[in-house]
Amino acid sequence: MSLEIKNLKAGITDREILKGLTLTINPGEVHAIMGPNGSGKSTLSKVLCGHEDYQVSSGEVLLDGEDLLAMEVDARSRAGLFLAFQYPHEIPGVSNANFLRAALKARQPEGADVDAVKFYKQLYTRMDQLEMDRSFTSRSVNEGFSGGEKKRNEILQLMMLEPKYAILDETDSGLDIDALKIVSRGVNAMRSESRGFLLITHYQRLLNYIQPDVVHVMVEGRIVLTGGRDLALKLEERGYDWIREEAAANA
Ligand code: ADP
Ligand code: MG
Repeated sequence: MSLEIKNLKAGITDREILKGLTLTINPGEVHAIMGPNGSGKSTLSKVLCGHEDYQVSSGEVLLDGEDLLAMEVDARSRAGLFLAFQYPHEIPGVSNANFLRAALKARQPEGADVDAVKFYKQLYTRMDQLEMDRSFTSRSVNEGFSGGEKKRNEILQLMMLEPKYAILDETDSGLDIDALKIVSRGVNAMRSESRGFLLITHYQRLLNYIQPDVVHVMVEGRIVLTGGRDLALKLEERGYDWIREEAAANA
């Protein structure tokens, strides 16, 4: 059981963005990927989720032994993969509650429904944990939400869907310190022996609140360095240039 990314190369039509990325996340582990802007972090998250703009040219991704890249987007989600977007999408006309209920229903056997009483009980519990007002249940998904509210809503989805592997793409960006604490508390509440996390972040601030087991540094589509939490602190202090230089020297 693991999310295994092996020598993944992917990009857009005329440009390779991921240039041979290898990474394994086991259930129970929290991995952080840090890296300068433009290194391909969001591309990685989108390729894993099957975004149609990106093509995989080689490599393999196995989700608990299954060929993830061969699955349709919805199958990836049902197989247990979740992505909290860096820029969450707005879905006008679909209420937050209906969206979540439909997503949960899609995980049930054909014809089975989601019990409304249990659903709302769980939804309200999770919203309370994220200090989200009840009015967010009837509002259209992310429509007119502030940046911070959108990020909280992504974590609400995570909490309701209870995926096996969760990728959080810069969930910290755009959050003030109080919201960051609330969101981190939500994520920490979801840490479990049966769940793996990939936290993508540009700054180490998030990692003060969600402590990773492993920290990777990504530069130009590759993981160039892997270490423990101390690596994140070193990056905070020294920036990314020294890593770029080392990566260039080793290339
Ligand atoms: P990060 O998340 O690390 O900041 P991204 O994965 O968003 O980096 O982007 C990596 C590089 O690929 C950037 O130079 C970006 O402009 C380019 N890129 C990513 N997606 C696309 C796309 N759909 N079309 C064109 N260029 C893209
Ligand atoms: Mg990004």
